[in-house]
Amino acid sequence: MAVRGRFAPSPSGRMHLGNLLAALLAWLDVRSQGGTMVLRIEDLDPQRCSLDKAKQLAEDLQWLGLDWDEGGLEPAYCQSNRSHYYQEAFHRLESMGLIYPCYCTRAQRLAASAPHASDGAVVYNRRCAHLTPAQRQELEAEGRRPAYRVRVPHREVTVTDGHMGPYTQQLDADCGDFIVRRSDGVWAYQLAVVVDDALMGVNHVVRGCDLLSSSPAQAWLHRTLGYEPPRFYHLPLLVDAQGRRLSKRDRDLDMGVLREKYTPQELVGLLAWLAGLQDTPKSATPAGLIPRFQWAKVPKNPIVFGSP
Ligand code: GLU
Ligand code: ZN
Repeated sequence: MAVRGRFAPSPSGRMHLGNLLAALLAWLDVRSQGGTMVLRIEDLDPQRCSLDKAKQLAEDLQWLGLDWDEGGLEPAYCQSNRSHYYQEAFHRLESMGLIYPCYCTRAQRLAASAPHASDGAVVYNRRCAHLTPAQRQELEAEGRRPAYRVRVPHREVTVTDGHMGPYTQQLDADCGDFIVRRSDGVWAYQLAVVVDDALMGVNHVVRGCDLLSSSPAQAWLHRTLGYEPPRFYHLPLLVDAQGRRLSKRDRDLDMGVLREKYTPQELVGLLAWLAGLQDTPKSATPAGLIPRFQWAKVPKNPIVFGSP
């Protein structure tokens, strides 16, 4: 089957080294197999995302030499324009009896963004699954607007990651009922990513390891909605010399600073070296790396990046 891969960044800020590594490897995974690359803009959260940031993101990818065949800033590939698809999937889950309102307040905040490990996700205790209709009415009368959760089954789901190997979760105990729509009406990442990967025909998902723990729930949601889950390839995280995860908070690793420090070839060479595709951080181009790309060369343990 022809490979259809995607890069699905959130335009909530400038990309950083970790995003770039995922983008380069997603691109190489597709290009080395003659596949199709989709760029999808995950701009669900209107508070954090903007078109300007999305434009910057697309321009940063082009600067690096990473192109795409479909999507980008086209409205049909921006999640903010795709509510009708999420609504339709939501209705289907609802008609299966899998959706319930959750009035807990704390839970809603991060649901629209991908649950990166550093967010410290907790398994929901199903408190609101047991509310009676009368209790719900009471909460509504107080003016409380619920988020909506999907009820996951008591089921073990194993995802065979193309890079990391088998990964298993007991859905109810390890993941819990997750939010598909926030109380302010914003669709949650977990629903949107599944619906979009399915409708866009994506069959290879390359991304950072912090989303590995979301992949069993996503695979389950794909099947529940009648879709075949994609093959997942999760990359190790980038860490500093002390083993701490490099993140958006490390400002010196954001694309604005990186572009002042490196040429595109130098930066691609550095990423290729971190990814195990060359022995030194010597300059490289994405196209030049295609013949050298193999998942077997990419490390599985966290990649240590000392200082730029
Ligand atoms: N949009 C997500 C992020 O920026 C990535 C989603 C994914 O690759 O599944 O972290
Ligand atoms: Zn609740």
